[in-house]
Amino acid sequence: MALYQYLCDDDGPFEASSPIGTAAPRRPCPTCSGAARRVFTAPALSRASRPAAAAIERAERSAHEPDVVTSLPPAGRRRPAPAQPSPAQRRLPRP
Ligand SMILES: [Zn+2]
Repeated sequence: MALYQYLCDDDGPFEASSPIGTAAPRRPCPTCSGAARRVFTAPALSRASRPAAAAIERAERSAHEPDVVTSLPPAGRRRPAPAQPSPAQRRLPRP
């Protein structure tokens, strides 16, 4: 499956997934059901591993669709406390 981008004149761009090579030149808009034309974009090719690609996609998506959190994560998923400074850093002057 590949992700193709379409553009509705009234509602803007949206993406639709179809098998490679079978994208229709027009597709019904999910908002207004009008005919939206296919637009050509750069292919999203990546040499990153699947988990790394998923992390990159999640980070990019969080820029405009941040996850809403209503509670703290479970104790196992929390970040560990910051490490103690090294002995060399302890000797540095403090403000
Ligand atoms: Zn539309």
